[in-house]
Amino acid sequence: MTDEPTTTQPTSGDDDAAPAASGPFGGLPIDFSADTGAVPLAAAVTPIAFAAEPIGPAGVDGSVSLNGADHGRTKAKVVIVGSGPAGLTAAIYAARADLDPIVLAGSAAGGQLMITSDVENYPGFPDGIQGPDLMAAFRAQAERFGTHIVDVDVERVDFSERPFRLWARGVEYRGDSVIVATGASAIWLGLESETRLRGRGVSACATCDGFFFRDKEIAVVGGGDTALEEATFLTRFATRVHLLHRRDEFRGSKIMVERAAHNPKIEIHVNTAVEEIVGDAHVEGLRLRDTVTGEERTMPAEGLFVAIGHKPDSEVFRDWLEVDEKGYLKVHDHTATRIEGVFVAGDVHDHRYRQAVTAAGDGCRAAIDAERWLEAQAEADATTRTPTEARAAV
Ligand SMILES: Cc1cc2nc3c(=O)[nH]c(=O)nc-3n(C[C@H](O)[C@H](O)[C@H](O)COP(=O)(O)OP(=O)(O)OC[C@H]3O[C@@H](n4cnc5c(N)ncnc54)[C@H](O)[C@@H]3O)c2cc1C
Repeated sequence: MTDEPTTTQPTSGDDDAAPAASGPFGGLPIDFSADTGAVPLAAAVTPIAFAAEPIGPAGVDGSVSLNGADHGRTKAKVVIVGSGPAGLTAAIYAARADLDPIVLAGSAAGGQLMITSDVENYPGFPDGIQGPDLMAAFRAQAERFGTHIVDVDVERVDFSERPFRLWARGVEYRGDSVIVATGASAIWLGLESETRLRGRGVSACATCDGFFFRDKEIAVVGGGDTALEEATFLTRFATRVHLLHRRDEFRGSKIMVERAAHNPKIEIHVNTAVEEIVGDAHVEGLRLRDTVTGEERTMPAEGLFVAIGHKPDSEVFRDWLEVDEKGYLKVHDHTATRIEGVFVAGDVHDHRYRQAVTAAGDGCRAAIDAERWLEAQAEADATTRTPTEARAAV
């Protein structure tokens, strides 16, 4: 994950305040500065502890041993990589199936929902819930059933034999099976104003945030199918959608381009680059540059959807697992991969839906698949044991 550590600003504490009407993201700004102040979490859940696992002294080969009561487990029937909705749902299911999972949560523990405010489409929360609160609840539920969670990034894996081996901060973890749930990150324009105004009118998810832009004039930046699709979707809410593309031709499919071009609410601006997002507390406009003439102009807009792509966090696994042309992990037969015993869940393979609820559902499927596979392995091992091995196993 490439996003900086973020915190939500303390809110008024008025949970009943009308959400959508009070501006983008329900008027709940997110502070994306590097300030590490406290995250306001629902009283019912324990705040996520981002502290890394204490690390013991380095051995002669530079590796570090965490075996021992103080450092937690390093071996499990299932090691889950990632702690977004997919990873933590997998952990809940695996823990309840007595698989004693370890979750290597990543430095962006909690995943993408940690950088958003109102989540209004996750079932079970009729009044919506803050992203960090939802993820704290997921984590508390996984821990309740005995999941061991370590907030580290996996740097290297070896899936050549079982148990599978994974390394993080010099510590070796071993799993009889592995679930990869490392998610994806939105690709941003890289402007300072974009980072500052994320959650204050700047978004990378129309499905998630479009609702907050009812009766507003907004813009979408991008030239592929996602940008064309998001612009079309956003016309349900916005009065006008400006589609900004830095080239003169769209990469998206002909049918999507035509659909956007014929939509009376969409205005297409080719050869147009976003130089700056204007606004202090929220998006008020865009400073644009003509990529051919270099001419600059300002456009009023209350929101900007960045739709220039997503990057799956799959690098660590690419030597072992198949990826598509964009780097998304490939699955076969539901959640399985080409390596038996390694499963995949969530946005790291799913570039179609990219929602918390679908990622969570996928985590459930991967955990059930891992559990059934482990059981089949145990049965196969039992039938192939020699009498001596069978006696020793009793
Ligand atoms: C701003 C924003 C707002 C959104 N709003 C909504 C919304 O309102 N509703 C909705 O349904 N969806 C929303 N989404 C989409 C939703 O957040 C994602 O679909 C969902 O989080 C995907 O879950 P995941 O578990 O697959 O991956 P992620 O949430 O991306 O989690 C991936 C996890 O993997 C970890 N990781 C990555 N690499 C490593 C590594 N090498 N080692 C260990 N761990 C690693 C990360 O630290 C992270 O914990 C939003 C997304 C964004 C960016």
